[in-house]
Amino acid sequence: MGIEEIEKPGGVWCQHARPGQGCAIHGQHPTACRVFMCQWLFQADIPEELKPNRSKVILTAVKGARETQLVVYTDPSDPNAWRRGAMHAFLRQQTGGGGIGYARSVMVWVGKRMWLMTPDGDFDLGEINGRKKFRIEKGPDGKPYVRQLEGSDDPRPAS
Ligand code: SF4
Repeated sequence: MGIEEIEKPGGVWCQHARPGQGCAIHGQHPTACRVFMCQWLFQADIPEELKPNRSKVILTAVKGARETQLVVYTDPSDPNAWRRGAMHAFLRQQTGGGGIGYARSVMVWVGKRMWLMTPDGDFDLGEINGRKKFRIEKGPDGKPYVRQLEGSDDPRPAS
């Protein structure tokens, strides 16, 4: 995830991260890091096997205008982790397309690339500049499109 306070872009290691050891500035780490808790800690129905260090996927909830969206960050070294077995089934359920679900938007990031999961399928929205505002719209063919709101007028169709 991107962290504005230390100008860390999304999809890359933090300059303060010491893999296997923790944070080199622990104690002085940014507020965004201090207050962050992933959805695995909050949401009681997420099984143990989907814990981020096992699944390679981090689940976060983001309040949108109409709903609380599920935003998913996948370890770029295992880019298909969100598509596998129990994780994919859980995410599908969250869209309302897998039985008992939340019927909410599920956005999956793998580095700079994003997928939108809906009850109808998984849509590759391509690379997105996550530091700029963007909107997901429905195109005339019924598929979702991304429209970057700053610096780009070109909606890109999902594949
Ligand atoms: S906790 Fe430390 S290593 Fe982790 S993102 Fe924040 S500053 Fe970087």
